[in-house]
Amino acid sequence: MSPLGKHLAALIRSQGPITIARYMAEALGNPRHGYYMTRDPLGQRGDFTTAPEISQIFGELLGLWCAIQWQRMGRPDPVHLVELGPGRGTLMVDALRAARSVSGFTDAIQLHLVEMSPALKTRQAERLHATWHDRFEDVPEGPVLLIANEFFDALPIHQFARTEAGWRERMVGLDESGEQLTPFLAPGAGATAALIPQALTSAPIGGSAEVCPAGLTIAEAIGRRVARFGGSAAIIDYGHALSAPGDTLQALRGHRYHGVFQDPGQADLTAHVDFQALARSAQEAGAAVHGPVEQGSFLRALGIDHRARALSQNASAKQRQAIADGVARLTSEDQMGRLFKVMAISDPALPAPEGFSLA
Ligand code: SAH
Repeated sequence: MSPLGKHLAALIRSQGPITIARYMAEALGNPRHGYYMTRDPLGQRGDFTTAPEISQIFGELLGLWCAIQWQRMGRPDPVHLVELGPGRGTLMVDALRAARSVSGFTDAIQLHLVEMSPALKTRQAERLHATWHDRFEDVPEGPVLLIANEFFDALPIHQFARTEAGWRERMVGLDESGEQLTPFLAPGAGATAALIPQALTSAPIGGSAEVCPAGLTIAEAIGRRVARFGGSAAIIDYGHALSAPGDTLQALRGHRYHGVFQDPGQADLTAHVDFQALARSAQEAGAAVHGPVEQGSFLRALGIDHRARALSQNASAKQRQAIADGVARLTSEDQMGRLFKVMAISDPALPAPEGFSLA
């Protein structure tokens, strides 16, 4: 087992089982051994690849999306441009380059990056001038444009199983040898069970439910911000448009599925995002929600094909192929086009943002 696995086993031995949320938070964010804390996990040689690493067009279109929203907001200066979990900073570099075509926008921007990983902060600082924060709540108040790509799927979830006796929280304990981490059902539901979406409360016996309090809290904070100071957020991730039952916790290592409890700290851990639950939190805070729409249709509405043609014009045959492959990967229904979704949280005084008008 990994060093963090041994640490957690010792913790459980002395203090008892931990929730899945605590397990996920430790696996990803433990200051010494957490998966994101020590490494750059992205790209070919890493464990997974994300949309901005596949094609520069992804970040460019989101930069233009922000620039258009900024114009609709009445060109506030300054405006906080915020990214949650910027990874290598690739999306933001591409977004800022494209946004320069809208006069005045980049001069008005104050860039804020919310990032917990020291390793990735260093990487981002090589490419971007920004202010870094540990939490969205620490970003100064004011008009805001926000992007979060594959951020919410990394936030800790609680899991529950429906039994004859009602909901039971799934916990992490130790197997009979006392060495291996293993999941089991707690004798009770736990306080977080109150957050199980209404739509899932009639799940069949044996069915499961997931709840992400950290995600709900951030969606609510974003909603409050845009409603009070003006602005919009684009949340892009993989998941369900409507709250759905199921166990979606998964580990990835070297681009392959890995055991969720096998090597905490050495594999990426994510869960499907429940967009409906995030939407409700943002709406309760006074914001309007648009979508979610499928990533493929969002990118097409923003002009991905047009941009690909323009980029291909002076490109070599090999580059043209790479551009086309990238577009296909981001938009095809059997790749990222359908599973990934885009949802906007926006000031209710603003019209539906670009890409959502038909949604
Ligand atoms: N958006 C990037 C990276 C996605 S990976 C891309 O699309 O390529 C997830 C990112 O979120 C990483 O930068 C990770 O360090 C960061 N992250 C995950 N959980 C976080 C948390 N609780 N607080 C702040 N940053 C977090």
